[in-house]
Amino acid sequence: MKNLQEQMFHELETKSDLADAHSYAKTYIDNVFNRNVYPSKEALDNLAHFEEELPKQRGSSAQILEKLNTQGGPATVATLGGRYFGFVNGSSLPITLAAKSLSTVWDQAPAMQVLSPIGSKLESVVEQWLRQLLDLANNTAAGFVSGTSLANFCGLAAGRFHQLEKLGWNVNENGFNGSPKLRIITGDQAHSTVIKAISLLGFGYKNIEWVPTDDQGRIIPSEIPELDDSSILILQAGNVNTGSFDNFETICRVAAEKGAWIHIDGAFGLWARAIQNLSYLTKGMEHAHSWAVDAHKTLNTPYDSGIILCKHPEALKSALHMTGSYIVKGEERDGMFYTPEMSRRARIIELWAALKYLGKEGVSELVETMHHRATQFKNEIQKVDGFEVLNDVVFNQVLVQCETDELTQTTLFNIQQDRVCWVGGSQWKNRKVIRVSICSWATTEQDILKSVASFKQSLSKAKKQLS
Ligand SMILES: *Cc1c(COP(=O)(O)O)cnc(C)c1O
Repeated sequence: MKNLQEQMFHELETKSDLADAHSYAKTYIDNVFNRNVYPSKEALDNLAHFEEELPKQRGSSAQILEKLNTQGGPATVATLGGRYFGFVNGSSLPITLAAKSLSTVWDQAPAMQVLSPIGSKLESVVEQWLRQLLDLANNTAAGFVSGTSLANFCGLAAGRFHQLEKLGWNVNENGFNGSPKLRIITGDQAHSTVIKAISLLGFGYKNIEWVPTDDQGRIIPSEIPELDDSSILILQAGNVNTGSFDNFETICRVAAEKGAWIHIDGAFGLWARAIQNLSYLTKGMEHAHSWAVDAHKTLNTPYDSGIILCKHPEALKSALHMTGSYIVKGEERDGMFYTPEMSRRARIIELWAALKYLGKEGVSELVETMHHRATQFKNEIQKVDGFEVLNDVVFNQVLVQCETDELTQTTLFNIQQDRVCWVGGSQWKNRKVIRVSICSWATTEQDILKSVASFKQSLSKAKKQLS
């Protein structure tokens, strides 16, 4: 029997594992756009086959891949296809899947330029492209992180550093104990990851100064408290339920002039700025200081991929600073100075490929099509007796409600059982709602019609069940 090293060299030589993986992936792609979105009960039950003891001996790579394919694949949720409308999950553009496959083999970690010259170069290039695409100042820095959870964290860390520095306090050196007090101001519709970041950074969520919001979840500008040099104001581009945008034009310039640091959570909505017909939603956003956005949602890159953009590169880099005797600073970009992690995967490769493939016009067409499909969904569902749409569909989100909470809940359950599409529930202004998030390049008009038919059938069934 070959020793471990000999065996692995043998596998590399034949490349039969890569070929198997590739072939399984191709079959998956052939089926995923037509199959039911959520796994069947049988597929879920089969997951029990993974409950094994840690193997004592080496395994066979062909069998491992085969097991993943037959028992793992069917238990995936078909987020890649066109009828997944849960949370705000994007699909993946075909070019990004291919670029990710190639870069998986490259296995780059762009912490430092010396670790990955290609990673470092693409991060610099995409940083510049994003400034252009989102019409942000030329010195805006970008850090490439796992998602908006972390991007929010980075933006608030930069704000914390910057505001305390203005007040004569270095938070890296001295911490928060005994520092001048900072104020955190945000809307009562702030995303839960914003609250998480606030906790992680030591502000304490009980100290948040909450601002009331209107029927769409937008901060009411006149309710924002007096702001000053110690303030951090967090706004939102794309409410996770309604898709609404805060009124940046009224709020941002004034807040910045008062000395507040403004951070915008634009997880899926920030891209509206790149679309001529939707950019009105982001007017005034340029007066903020940091912006968080995902690539894995609206832009449809594979998981995981988020971006922190910051107008004060020094504040971002200071907040995320690190030193070490073995660090090699590059002539160009060392990615780790813009992110909390040292090692990270080179997610920039798929992001670069997405932007190179789409171009500015492609980004517009992609996002506008999502908006059109959301509008189509709204129009179609409003024709069905018993459904009401609660929000203005300004972007890609549609909030649907039945006559009673009980009917909404039972209908939602039936839709999920039907598995034609997948939608989640939420709570809006004290009522149960169904959230529909159109976030896939692959959603066709036909997908919308099929899904609306499933909604209609599920409501009829619910009415019978409850009568
Ligand atoms: C999804 C989302 C987040 C969290 O982003 P992740 O990429 O899941 O970390 C934050 N804010 C809003 C508005 C979101 O939609």
